[in-house]
Amino acid sequence: GAHPARHGILANSRFQPGRERPEWFWYRDALRLPTLYDRAREAGLSSASLFWPSAGRSGQRWVLPEILPGRWKMSLAWRALCAGTPLFLLDMLRRYGSLLRGLDRYHLDNFTAAAAAHLARSGQADLLLVHLLDLDAVRHREGFQGPAIRRTLEEQDRRLGRILEAALRPDGWARTAFVVFGDHAFLDVHTAVNLNTALARAGLLTLDGRGRCRGWLAWANTAEGSAHLYLRDREDRSLRRRVKRWLDELRSDPGHGIEEVYRGAALRRLGLGRDIDFVLEARPGFYFSPLLRLEVSEPAPAGRRACHGYRPNREGYTSLLLAAGAGVRDGAELEEMSILDLGPTLAALLGLTLPDADGQARGELLAAGEGNG
Ligand SMILES: [Zn+2]
Repeated sequence: GAHPARHGILANSRFQPGRERPEWFWYRDALRLPTLYDRAREAGLSSASLFWPSAGRSGQRWVLPEILPGRWKMSLAWRALCAGTPLFLLDMLRRYGSLLRGLDRYHLDNFTAAAAAHLARSGQADLLLVHLLDLDAVRHREGFQGPAIRRTLEEQDRRLGRILEAALRPDGWARTAFVVFGDHAFLDVHTAVNLNTALARAGLLTLDGRGRCRGWLAWANTAEGSAHLYLRDREDRSLRRRVKRWLDELRSDPGHGIEEVYRGAALRRLGLGRDIDFVLEARPGFYFSPLLRLEVSEPAPAGRRACHGYRPNREGYTSLLLAAGAGVRDGAELEEMSILDLGPTLAALLGLTLPDADGQARGELLAAGEGNG
């Protein structure tokens, strides 16, 4: 419910200059504001997070943490055990582990849905947060409307149906609200722009003989549709001027796909705060990559047909929200809603508030009497 400047998470990946594949924010301590599940716990409600972002070590009663580097490693299993609730994780693996095929997202979602249905059937969790991943993976791979999207949506529908059926078993709709939403849209891409490669060419970072980063004056942490450019010494005004000139030059060549460069007050208006010096927005068709390569711009690799991380208020760049059940107004339709309103609206369904949120509970979605705290 809050802008990134206030909750502290600006992109999937952490700012780790020199690392081409930085870690993601897997853990609760990255968030500077109380979350929905924190507020639930304060109110004496129990909660579960299944692959919910940044919920590792969050102290909820049931946690399958989202800790998902590129490939399966033993250390990953160990980190997941430490950051989640070990007994629950082991119990779910014992019951449903045969559904997994490494970290393949299709099978992982089947596992997550089975675990969610298990919890929902028990009726013990007051708040159940579930993050399904396969639709995101398939859209990245095939494009926004790729050939397998319909089938993937049908699989998603089947999993949601399974969770819903289990959730309705204890009490029916009387005490259950079911909300489905996406946290971002996608734009199809054809070109990757390797910003740190461009910085290396401009002498703003240095490489060793094997093409790895050895030192940096500026570094780009990328979110695909946008990128955050950090200066090593923020007080160095000549460096700032140099980077600004370099950015103007880079932007003047349409092959680099830079639509906009934001800085200063513009960043604060976007809710991105004061921690970053420059934010770059990509043009449609382009995305930013942190990789150190030979070319600055290159065709998007096979398996990268669509990306996200663009400015959320781009034209046509929207996701969806569906809600039904206890506390939800029957037949309500919203033309548009900010993602900032999502947290407060979910809180209202639980009879809670999120005082630190920038968004507001959307009364049009709530049955009379809800949302008063
Ligand atoms: Zn994604």
